[in-house]
Amino acid sequence: MALEFDNSGGAGDREEKPSPVKIDYDLCEATGVCESVCPEDVLLHREGFTQVVKGQACTECWICVDNCVASAITIG
Ligand code: SF4
Repeated sequence: MALEFDNSGGAGDREEKPSPVKIDYDLCEATGVCESVCPEDVLLHREGFTQVVKGQACTECWICVDNCVASAITIG
């Protein structure tokens, strides 16, 4: 499935650290669990789709990875 959305955590952020969070949309079941467990509001789930919206804020705590039922999130 081709990516139709920005998965990098924000455009125009070349001077900031890159987002470590990646969502594999071939695996994502769009449950929204990752948004609800992320303490940094990195992920946004709306209208059946989840995306990285504040990737630079990620602390690499792995909570979203541990809670994703589809193993669709990778960090690093
Ligand atoms: S690793 Fe932690 S801070 Fe980063 S997106 Fe996942 S839950 Fe949020």
